[in-house]
Amino acid sequence: MILSWYRSQKEEFGFVPATWLFWRVLWRRAYVIASNRLLLKRLRCPCCGWEGRRFLDYIEMGYTVRNCACPCCDSHSRHRALFVWLRDEYRISEKAGIALVFAPEKALAPLWKAATNLRAYKVDVEPRRGVDVLGDLRQLPFASGVADLVWCHHVLEQVEDDRVAMKELKRVLLSGSGELIISVGPGDSRLLWSLGLLTKLCPATGGPLVLTLPRDLPRLDSM
Ligand SMILES: [Zn+2]
Repeated sequence: MILSWYRSQKEEFGFVPATWLFWRVLWRRAYVIASNRLLLKRLRCPCCGWEGRRFLDYIEMGYTVRNCACPCCDSHSRHRALFVWLRDEYRISEKAGIALVFAPEKALAPLWKAATNLRAYKVDVEPRRGVDVLGDLRQLPFASGVADLVWCHHVLEQVEDDRVAMKELKRVLLSGSGELIISVGPGDSRLLWSLGLLTKLCPATGGPLVLTLPRDLPRLDSM
């Protein structure tokens, strides 16, 4: 796996930078593995229960995040924060009905499984991560008003027409009580219509934003 990653880096950036990066990744990985074997544990991953001294570094060309990826479930800090929020604040285990989970994160899978009154369908545009339904956000294969809960994180920035996607999300939500939990990732997000909408609805949000029908989403029609 790491060799295929190295090959792709070599194709994109050339032999010397890719090889330098490759050895850096190996060195940092060896350092973290040794730390976890030799030093006292001080971290615990909420997603899988792994305990150790340090998480693995996330290293890409020109970009490094230290102490980031869980060696067991590969969750990053964002996933771990979402996991704790879903479990402790949103209390996902107490929810019931039908949930549509777009681009499902592997690290959050135990939570969806543990919510026994919630029937969660994993949806993606590509057949990966054990998805239940293949679907394009711009034209979802669901009837209107079927979902009590929709989970859509860091997806809209990858959709060509996010305004159409937002209207589809609204359409499939149960009218009157459906909840849309949503965030938009960085990158070209300043160009996104949906980010403008979320900023207007909740200017100070830094984490998951819960939009509820009919309180929030009817504003879609007027924007
Ligand atoms: Zn983990």
